[in-house]
Formats: sequence, structure tokens, C-alpha cells
Amino acid sequence: MIDVDDLIALVRNYNPRCNVDLIRRAYAYGLKMHEGQVRKSGEPYFTHPVAVAAILTEQRLDDATIVTALLHDTIEDTRSTYSEVAELFGAEVAELVDGVTKLTNLQLSSAGSQQAENFRKLFMAMSRDLRVILVKLADRLHNMRTIKSMKPEKQAQKARETMEIFAPLAGRMGMQWMREELEDLSFKVLNPEARNSIMRRFLTLQRETGDVVHKITGDIRHELEKAQIEADVYGRAKKPYSIWRKMQEKDLAFSSLSDIYGFRVICGSVADCYRILGVIHQRWRAVPGRFKDYISQPKNNGYRSIHTTVSGRDGKRVEVQIRTREMHEVAEAGVAAHWSYREGVRAPNPFAVDPAKWIATLTERLDEGDTDEFLENVKLEMYSDQVFCFTPKGDVIQLPRGATPLDYAYAIHTRIGNSCVSAKIDGIRVPLWTRLKNGQSVEILTAEGQRPQASWIDIVTTGRAKAAIRRSLREEDRGRFVKLGQELARAAFEHVGKKASEKALRTAAKMLGLADENDLLARLGSAEMPARRVVETLYPELAMAVAEEVDAKRPVVGLTADQSFRRAQCCQPVPGERIVGITYRGQGVVVHAIDCRALEEFEDQTSRWVDLHWHSGRHAPAYTVSLDITISNDAGVLGRICTLIGEQKANISDLRFTDRKPDFYRLIIDVDLRDVEHLHTVMTALEADTDVAQISRHRDLTRRP
Ligand code: MN
Repeated sequence: MIDVDDLIALVRNYNPRCNVDLIRRAYAYGLKMHEGQVRKSGEPYFTHPVAVAAILTEQRLDDATIVTALLHDTIEDTRSTYSEVAELFGAEVAELVDGVTKLTNLQLSSAGSQQAENFRKLFMAMSRDLRVILVKLADRLHNMRTIKSMKPEKQAQKARETMEIFAPLAGRMGMQWMREELEDLSFKVLNPEARNSIMRRFLTLQRETGDVVHKITGDIRHELEKAQIEADVYGRAKKPYSIWRKMQEKDLAFSSLSDIYGFRVICGSVADCYRILGVIHQRWRAVPGRFKDYISQPKNNGYRSIHTTVSGRDGKRVEVQIRTREMHEVAEAGVAAHWSYREGVRAPNPFAVDPAKWIATLTERLDEGDTDEFLENVKLEMYSDQVFCFTPKGDVIQLPRGATPLDYAYAIHTRIGNSCVSAKIDGIRVPLWTRLKNGQSVEILTAEGQRPQASWIDIVTTGRAKAAIRRSLREEDRGRFVKLGQELARAAFEHVGKKASEKALRTAAKMLGLADENDLLARLGSAEMPARRVVETLYPELAMAVAEEVDAKRPVVGLTADQSFRRAQCCQPVPGERIVGITYRGQGVVVHAIDCRALEEFEDQTSRWVDLHWHSGRHAPAYTVSLDITISNDAGVLGRICTLIGEQKANISDLRFTDRKPDFYRLIIDVDLRDVEHLHTVMTALEADTDVAQISRHRDLTRRP
């Protein structure tokens, strides 16, 4: 294990003025807290935090980050607490350690490739300081370097996570070396055969061509000496995983050198970069289309370099990158370059991207304005307007801040949203208006037949959910209104001896300036337009013919003088509805609604059927209809229902309970009405009442005349 003096020496190398006392105390505290704990490999646990700290010294990071590395597992795995860390090492360190702990606790195991991007965002959203991610990445790097002591299944799972989430995250932080190493360590676990075959071919190639790296770096150095330019030349073989990926992507064979070896020339000034480029292009032939100048046009993440590919006499191509030392630091350390020390001071690197701008480029939301205040503590505000939640399967759903379980349900599927009845967050039932937080896992409970409630509009924040709820409410209303409108139109037309055909309705809609007949019917059903108005529009000459009140003893047309009229009690037809009569010897004619199920038994006795229709005049309110109605069991509700019926000028002739539960009553109310239009007015008025859960006509086949 690296001892505390070695660690301090590593930090002092780049930061002589570091806080030695702080590091010493953190080291001693971590050692004491993890005492007795061992890693899978059998080593003392504290070797891990120390190794993580050492990795971060390679990036020359500040004291707070190094101390955080030493303490990163204390809150999670020992009896140490947030407040104790804050008391001993200050709020900044405590915040950083807490941030790393939160990331460690995220359940990433079931991440599919499609979800990886969301996980990376979740990571950033949960790290309020970029240094939290730097520590977490170093933590993962050390765990991957020592992965051999884990069980094989665990190895594969960690390697997959690393490949999908941590390696791209390192790349996004601008740390290319770390990305490459994480990828290669994962590659070794996930696809050892492929990696071995790359390594074998590598050796074969080396046998054939000799030590290419040594030869080429020597050639370049020689040319630079001749031109009297001071620069360092490095050559290296690319990592097996980079070669593998390139071969997969481009379907390339393992032969072209430029895809295997890379060369770098690191010099002192920008002017030297271009001089070196000239020297190299004079000596070797440049391959067209492979030259890129990221010095005059830097990448968003601050990367600057000149790239060119040249081919030697033997036709073999090699890629050369040319940049200054400061550019190189940014290329390797990425966002960490901001915290890096050079010669004991935090020397501003002119090419290092201000982390605030970095964040802005990551989110492509570069706002103008003062970014200086970001310099000390970089807060990650990039995803602060979003929350990321888990599905029970471990997928991540991205939602705007303030979103509720309903938003979440609609984000998954409109069907789930529409049938949502309740929600669980981290296994606990919560109200639907609860605001979601990062990293919570959410489960939606649905029920068949559940419909969106109007009150949901105020609970949701996403446009998607709002639109879906409105659409559903509208469709439901409209469907009901159109059906109701059909009945009203038919009754009104029959009243004047006409038929409410589709054609007639379409014509009326056109004359009234409406979209189509459904629009017209919906307006009739919602009582926006009286049915009489439609009749008047089409048949102005008939509209005025309001007849005298019809005799309740002879309300139908089609009976002979000696046939008496009786309403069937099973279906209780009312004026305006389509009817048929059935003759009984000595009992006269019983009038049924045309769709009454009781008519089935008379199907093959056609001689008993009598064609009838209601008188077209105004009927007396003498037709009893039974309504089956369910209302809440609250004080005053029943009284209000009765008043409502009275206000519609209908009379209640009987009322009986069929079911009484603590929360609702079910009852049958007999109401005396004029005709079908009157019936609909009463039913609509009741339906509109919030305490009426259900209302329908009660039809009872067992009741005979
Ligand atoms: Mn750790």
C-alpha cells in the first residue's frame, strides 16, 4: 500500500504548497475507519481509496479532490457520517464525498446500450460538482484494474457497465487516456478471444516489419534535428479495443499501419506546430483528405492539435498528431486540466476549457454572461432542470423537474397514463401529485376501465401528459354527446314526421355552418343547440306546428278504435322512441321499445306485431321511467339529486335502495316524464353532478305489463 509520505510526495511533485496536514489527517482517518475491512483480493480495504487518490495525483488535482478520494467509501461503508466528515475536513470535502456516495448507490446493472446515454446524464445530474465525477471515474478505473479477484459474473457486469457508461463519460470529460484504458480493461473481460486475436496479429505484424515505432520516431526526430526544432516525439500502438472498434466500424482488415500506430510530436509553441507540419510533409507524402487543423478550429471540448497522415517509401501510412505541451495537457486531462497544478501553482492553461463553458458545450446551451464564479466550485447545472427516474426494469426515464408519477406514466405509454390509478416510489404508495426526484424508482399501478380525471391536468407538467389527458377527456365527452345527440335528433325529427337521416343531418350541419353531422350531434347532445333549431333550419314550415297536448290514454298512432294502449313495464318506452305493439287477446296492445329484449319471444308470431308510432304533439308528463343511479353516501347528496330532478320539471313517483355501502348508495328512482327529450335533460343534469357515480335507465325483463 502506498504510505502517506509517498502519497504526499506525489502531490508535492506538482503542488509543493499542498495542505500536508489535511492529507495526513484524511489518510489516518480513512485507515482507521476501514480498519479490519478487506477487499476481494484479501488486501486491506484502504489500499483502494489510496490507489484512487494516487490516480488523481496523475491528473494533478487539488487537495479537496485528493482528500475526497481517500474518504470516498467512508460514509457508505464505515460508521463515519456526513456531519463527522464535514466537521473534520470541511463542508467542501463532505459535499464531494456525499456526491460520490450517491453515484455509488445508483443501480446501473440493468442498463442496456439504449439507456446508457440516460445513465450518463443521470450521473451528471446527480453530481453537483464535476470533481465528484473525476473521483468516481478514478474509483472505477482502480476497480477495473483489480477486477480479476471478482467472481466471473460480477466481472462481466462491471465490465459492461464500464464500457457503456464510465468509458464514454471519461471521453466526455475529455480524458482520452482514461477512456481508452477503461475500454481496454472491459474488452479484456467481455471479449478475450477478440482481444487475443488482435494481440496475436499484432505480434505477427511486428515480426514482419520490425520495430516500426522505434524506426519511425527515429526518422521524425532526425528530420526535426536537421530543421533545428525542439520537440518530443512519441510513438505508440493503439489499444486493442480501439483497433477492434475501428475494424468493426469500417469493416477493415488488420493491415493498415495508420490504424494501429499513432505518433505525437509535442513542442513549445503554436508556430513550431506549423513548422513541424512543414518538415513532415516535406519528408513524407501527405495522404489527401486526412489533414485536420484543430488548432485553428478547436473542438468544443477544447481539444487542439494538428492531425495528418503520411505515407513512407514503402507505402505504409502513419498518423501524426502535432501540438504544444499545454494543448497536450488539455487533450489528456480534459476538464481536469482546470484543477491541475504546474510547478506548484494552479497555472492557468490558456487552452483549458473553463468548466462552466465545458458544461455549456456538453448541453449545447452556451449562455452568455459571467462565468467567473464557476471557477472555484463548479456546480453542474446542466441537468438541474431535469429528473431521471427508474422503471421497475431499471430503464431510466428522463422528465422535466417538477414531474409527477402521472408524467412518468404518460412518458412510458399513453395507455399506462390513461389507466393509472396509483403509484409507488421506491416501493411506497404515494399520491399522484408527488414530485419525483433523481434516482427514484417508480412503479405505476393501472386498472382496467380507469379514465383520466379532469383534475389531472393540474397535476402533470409535461406537455405530452397534458395533451393526452385533454384528448381523452374530449373524446369521452364527445362520444357521449354524439350518442345523446343522435337520440335527440331522431326524436325531434319524428316529432314532425320526418327522418333524421345522415343526409338530412349533414345538410343541416352545413346550413348551420358546422363542420359535419357529428359536430352537429355533439352540440345537440351537450345542449349547446336545441334539437328544435335543427328542425326549424331544415323545415321552417313545420316548426310552428306545435300541437295540443296529446291524450295520455291514446298517445300512439296506429291502434284501431277497440285496441287499448298499455306501456310495457320491461322497457318503459317514452314518446319519441321507436316502438312496436304486441297484441294480446282481451288485453289490448302492449307497446314495447323497438330494441326491447322481451320482443324476442314474439319473433315468429308476426301476426301479433302492430306497427305504431307516437303522436307528434306535446305529451303529458305521465310516462314513468326507472333510473338506476349510484351516488356518494354523503350528507345532502340524495336531497340534492331529488331537487335536481324537480328542477327539470319531472316528478319522482317512487324511490328504492338496491345497495347501501359505506361510501355509496345505489337506488332506483321512478321519474314521470313527457318524452325522450325530457328524459335526456333529466339524465344529463344528474350526470353532471359530481356526486353521481353512475346513471342508466333501469330495464327489467321480468316486469310484465
Ligand atoms: Mn471505491
